[in-house]
Amino acid sequence: MNEPARSFGALSCADDYDPNSMPVAKAREVIARFLTPVTATERVAVRAALGRVLAEDVISPLDVPAHDNSAMDGYAVRFSNLKPDGEVTLKVAGSAFAGAPYQGVLKPGECVRIMTGGVVPQGADTIVMQEHAKAGKDQVTIGAGHKKGQNLRRAGEDLSAGQVALKRGAELRPAETGLVASLGIGEVTVYRRLRVAFFSTGDELVSIGTQPKEGQIFDSNRYTIHGMLTRLGCEVLDMGVVRDDPTLLERAFHDAAAAADVVITSGGVSVGEADFVKDLLNKLGEVVFWKIAMKPGRPLAYGKVGSAHFFGLPGNPVSVMVTFYQFVRDALLALSGRDPVPPLPTFKVACASNLKKAPGRTEFQRGVLSQDSSGAWSVRVTGEQGSGILRSMSEANCFIILSTEQGNVAAGTLVDVQVMDGIV
Ligand code: AMP
Ligand code: MG
Repeated sequence: MNEPARSFGALSCADDYDPNSMPVAKAREVIARFLTPVTATERVAVRAALGRVLAEDVISPLDVPAHDNSAMDGYAVRFSNLKPDGEVTLKVAGSAFAGAPYQGVLKPGECVRIMTGGVVPQGADTIVMQEHAKAGKDQVTIGAGHKKGQNLRRAGEDLSAGQVALKRGAELRPAETGLVASLGIGEVTVYRRLRVAFFSTGDELVSIGTQPKEGQIFDSNRYTIHGMLTRLGCEVLDMGVVRDDPTLLERAFHDAAAAADVVITSGGVSVGEADFVKDLLNKLGEVVFWKIAMKPGRPLAYGKVGSAHFFGLPGNPVSVMVTFYQFVRDALLALSGRDPVPPLPTFKVACASNLKKAPGRTEFQRGVLSQDSSGAWSVRVTGEQGSGILRSMSEANCFIILSTEQGNVAAGTLVDVQVMDGIV
């Protein structure tokens, strides 16, 4: 089921890091070393390829555009017939409309009425837009000031036959499916979807439809994880809630690893529970437990269970989403064949209020980017930042990323924001 991956043997001992305070960048770097993309491919129709990853370069079989054509409505002329310092009157010999070319060759003293996209007739080398011509009956008068070759789209100026139109590793978005269609190609070769199995752990969790008893809560992580995976184009296998019971957990890990390329769990990796899950995972695979120097999302387990990649996310709902976007997203895209993996769009913007921040950890506060009446953008934090407050993720449209060393932030300071729209 899985593609061969590099051994994890060196994962836990060869690196010079502190597993109790793993920097975010270091954790990303270690994970990136072990990602071997899927290799299996399938042929799919262009429309069905939306969101999939190209497994082969798409080579243009033709010149795009196929012919020199007009970029304007106007007249196709021979530049040498125009006067550099005065007017000239040309005979309109015929028309070249999009899809209905002029069949003849332009003779001296002639021009052809042409519409945008119309094939430039033989003998013509310049387009004069209609606003710059005085049309009479069967003739037009054109003034001075034109440039040879103006308003003309050259054959092959977009793509020439044999050129790589799209590279292997690219995601097919609407622009790419349109581009493929513009080449007359009806099917593309894409990587198979990455299979990701996930389950929630916790004795306190109940599924929707069950009345929670005192101390019980509805399982929400399976819904956010399902959504995040689906948006990334993965094939998802929802394995439900698994109780904090070693036998049940072992069976769930075993089944998930046998069925999927990647196994994701939530909960059960924090202090207190870690040793229990740790023993189990040491038996089933090679897993490291890190306390990442970040907030929220401190505990994270990463490694292999059987031949599947494994991400053990924290239990708190916000931590789940933050660790997913900061670590799992890039890994899943790389495993899906994306090359290069596009970074999440991040830029600097002024912070509208003071932010509380203690040095020592990278923080991913939930923010709202908005524009004031003058059009300037700034960011504010969504109220309380507790890692259990999922509403903060719902209200946010960006993460405010505060570096490890950063202390409190004064209003007006530029901060890094990572936009969520389009990624979540
Ligand atoms: P844990 O990491 O298992 O100790 O969980 C940390 C916190 O997250 C606890 O308050 C859990 O109740 C909560 N939690 C764990 N799993 C889920 C879940 N699937 N849905 C919602 N909350 C959860
Ligand atoms: Mg738990």
